[in-house]
Amino acid sequence: MNEWTRIMLLSFPSNIDAAVAAGELQMTIDGEPVGAAPALVVINPATGEPAGRAPDAGTADLDRAVAAARAALPRWSGMTHAARAERLGAFADAIQRRAHDVAAVLTLEQGKELASATFEIFGTVAWMKQFSTIEIPEAVIRPVGRDGLVVRHRPVGVVGAIAPWNVPVFLGFMKVAQALIAGCTIVLKPSPFTPLSTLLVGALSRGILPPGVLNVVSGGDALGQAMTDHEGIDKISFTGSTETGKRVVESASRTMKRVTLELGGNDPAIILPDADLDRIVPALMIGAFGNAGQVCMAIKRLFVHEDIHDEVAARLAVLARDHVVGSGFEPGTAMGPIQNRAQFDRVIELVEDAGRMPGAQILAGGKPLDGPGFFYPPTLVVGLDDDARLVREEQFGPALPILSWRTEDEVIARANATRFGLSASIWTRDLEKAQDMSKRLDVGTVWINAHGLPDPAAPFGGTKESGLGRSFGPMGVEAYMEAQTLSIEPSLPM
Ligand code: NAD
Repeated sequence: MNEWTRIMLLSFPSNIDAAVAAGELQMTIDGEPVGAAPALVVINPATGEPAGRAPDAGTADLDRAVAAARAALPRWSGMTHAARAERLGAFADAIQRRAHDVAAVLTLEQGKELASATFEIFGTVAWMKQFSTIEIPEAVIRPVGRDGLVVRHRPVGVVGAIAPWNVPVFLGFMKVAQALIAGCTIVLKPSPFTPLSTLLVGALSRGILPPGVLNVVSGGDALGQAMTDHEGIDKISFTGSTETGKRVVESASRTMKRVTLELGGNDPAIILPDADLDRIVPALMIGAFGNAGQVCMAIKRLFVHEDIHDEVAARLAVLARDHVVGSGFEPGTAMGPIQNRAQFDRVIELVEDAGRMPGAQILAGGKPLDGPGFFYPPTLVVGLDDDARLVREEQFGPALPILSWRTEDEVIARANATRFGLSASIWTRDLEKAQDMSKRLDVGTVWINAHGLPDPAAPFGGTKESGLGRSFGPMGVEAYMEAQTLSIEPSLPM
């Protein structure tokens, strides 16, 4: 362990063992720390060695968490919006006070650079506060008098939230914030690859949120399945792969649970010939390789107009070769490891497959780095056909195909020729043209001259197999509510 790592871990209050002793890496059920057989071994992706252990909850723990959430529901949903917002704000403040500790744990288990981990925690705090201001008003169609017609919104009930390993704290606690401000109570399950930071943040809610309002349980995929099957859960909010999302819908349908699904993507970025390369190339680098490409809305297919294709590819290759890959704790690291062995192997396989395609050329990267840990350099591949696996499938890692296009109709058709529809971007000085093109892209979000920048005020989610429903903004909060129509009938006066 180098000096920097040691200092960071010392700042977490003394180290992982101390946090374990303080009950901070236990589950939170009904406001209390709860252990379970500590069977989940968490691997540090920078070393491939165990970094800690987390409880592996069984169905009895889940039943207890769901019962606690159910018991807390009447009081929490009966509080005023302002009172719930105040508690949520206090929880956000508690996370902010421990942001550096949480960030260190996040880097340890997820691998991302410490600066990105810290950004994730402060982002969680800021968005949580923003969501606490969202109140869904009654819609008055006919004012209530002798008659009236009003649509109001009631919390959906107990929510089961299931999160992935790429941005675990932000994605998990955005579900928490939206569900709680809507008046729901919640049981949150982090990914078995990255449970520790979520357990720690869950522990910070104790004594701030009323017992049972937020329960955090850790466990494997079977625990997620048990949540989707559970009769005491009214809604599942899931973020993860499209394949698992389909299983979630199947299982949730048996009890007609409401679902919000944030699934995979294969985002295209379309570069027009007039784009300002000095400005856009560094932004494309972040859009494709931020979080080692393990972002649902990362740039996964880069479509560059044929006039500037070679120039953009060459400039990106310079940046890619200079990109410092290393432990997230090392100052100066621009990109950490891939989070887990399976994903690492998948990226290796996809790039090897791409390299075998006729005409393919690897401009940067192309094979894993020597040594322990799951390190893979930023990789750029040109000359692929659209049916190469690296183009067709979600790579979810630091390997980007760069594709040449000639006409707008052609590039729109190719961008849309995927089962995914999360987001896309268009890069040009011609904002009018970009807006026109955006209307023809079959995706949930289009950015112009940016990629991967969702806004807490606006809905985010995918078309096609990228998801169901939307998160964020009023629409995101409404997704944790049921509309109720109130109609006063005037024809039979009492
Ligand atoms: P995953 O589907 O393997 O796992 C996600 C979560 O589901 C984990 O907590 C896992 O334990 C749980 N799970 C597994 N099987 C389950 C089942 N049968 N029933 C219920 N829960 C189950 O996904 P991952 O590998 O952790 O995450 C990567 C994927 O997530 C990528 O495809 C990425 O694009 C997607 N993602 C999407 C968004 C978005 O907002 N659209 C955001 C981040 C990640």
